[in-house]
Amino acid sequence: MDIRFSPAEEAFRAEARAWLEANVPRTRPDRADLRARRAFDLAWQRKMFDAGWAGIAWPKEFGGRGASVMEQLIWFEEYARAGAPEITTTFVGLNHAGPTLVACGNEEQKGFHLPRILRGEVIWCQGFSEPNAGSDLASLQTRAVIDGDFLVVTGQKIWTSYGNIAEFQELLVRTDPEAPKHKGITWVICPMDTPGIEVRPITTLTGDHDFCEVFYDNVRIPLANVVGKLNDGWRVAMATLSFERGTAFLSEQVRLARRVDELIALAAQVPGPNGRARALDDDELARRLALVRAEVEAMRAMSYRSVSLAARTGMPGAEASIIRLFFSELVQRIDMLAMDILGAPALAGAGGGPAGRWAVSYLTGLSQTIGGGTKEIQRNIIGDRFLGLPR
Ligand SMILES: Cc1cc2nc3c(=O)[nH]c(=O)nc-3n(C[C@H](O)[C@H](O)[C@H](O)COP(=O)(O)OP(=O)(O)OC[C@H]3O[C@@H](n4cnc5c(N)ncnc54)[C@H](O)[C@@H]3O)c2cc1C
Repeated sequence: MDIRFSPAEEAFRAEARAWLEANVPRTRPDRADLRARRAFDLAWQRKMFDAGWAGIAWPKEFGGRGASVMEQLIWFEEYARAGAPEITTTFVGLNHAGPTLVACGNEEQKGFHLPRILRGEVIWCQGFSEPNAGSDLASLQTRAVIDGDFLVVTGQKIWTSYGNIAEFQELLVRTDPEAPKHKGITWVICPMDTPGIEVRPITTLTGDHDFCEVFYDNVRIPLANVVGKLNDGWRVAMATLSFERGTAFLSEQVRLARRVDELIALAAQVPGPNGRARALDDDELARRLALVRAEVEAMRAMSYRSVSLAARTGMPGAEASIIRLFFSELVQRIDMLAMDILGAPALAGAGGGPAGRWAVSYLTGLSQTIGGGTKEIQRNIIGDRFLGLPR
């Protein structure tokens, strides 16, 4: 492990910091207004593209920055430090579909889609999960049969983030029902305006509509949209999922460290339990604040170690699942602590100023231990691949 930065990396940091300080947008769209968020995110993506910062981890030949792993780490740290917009509606295009096309797409697919994603012209969504296929993704049932030059798709997906504002979907369908379940799946690019698609938004605990159910009724998708080969979709999908735990995750960690500092500042302002003037004067709350601050630092050290290892070996380490699991549960501990510090005013919800914002964060944070593999599945991976425990 070597966690010192070279002079060239420090120069890269200075360049990134200067650009971000001058260009990060100071206003944000209303969280509930998905159309406004879409427009805002695409405009920000375009701005980064024009300045040469888009697709930081993408190869240069596909329009990306082609940054080294250490440079990516620095970029995402600076990105969070500058308070730059969280990547939400553009996430699937930039971190799943784009890298998957780079790895598995043909020249035509790369030439058409990659520039549109990088320039901030399209939103992608992910059609993997189904009502009976989440953790056990390979049991998916959405069927596709070949008819001439088309795949004809019938079935249902669920939890499709931003399905209601996306142009394209990375869609997994079953093309060979007779084959063993991992072998009969195909990964296909689905244009969301194809006739036969119905998108129904789902309302979450916070009142948002970021998730959707998507129904397919004889939807005709050109065979030319298949990525990889027919029935080879599991391999392609695994390539997609391995990108999810890439370096982009580092900016979330830096953001979390900032939130802990904000919480400590808040605890010095609000009254504490048992008539104390400040929440910070309560021994138990102070102990929990100190603990989460130490835990955020420990996680940063683990991530540095993992990134440094990957930079030297070229391989992402198996500890990515440990970091991911620790992060997701730590987010929830921090949000719970915020609820305990704030007490009843937190119940004011989204409309309730700073206290309400913590409540929204608490509610959305519940999804941290579900999306991208539940905490139980992460523990299975750690037990199996890291600890070598018997199945
Ligand atoms: C914020 C968020 C965004 C999402 N976005 C998308 C998206 O854009 N596209 C998409 O396709 N999906 C998306 N999902 C869905 C997500 O991938 C699934 O929710 C996840 O894979 C879990 O599947 P499930 O909900 O069907 O739960 P299930 O798999 O039914 O699990 C139910 C419970 O059983 C446990 N369990 C299941 N199997 C095992 C096992 N083998 N060992 C131990 N415990 C087990 C789970 O841990 C869980 O507690 C999103 C989810 C979230 C929370």
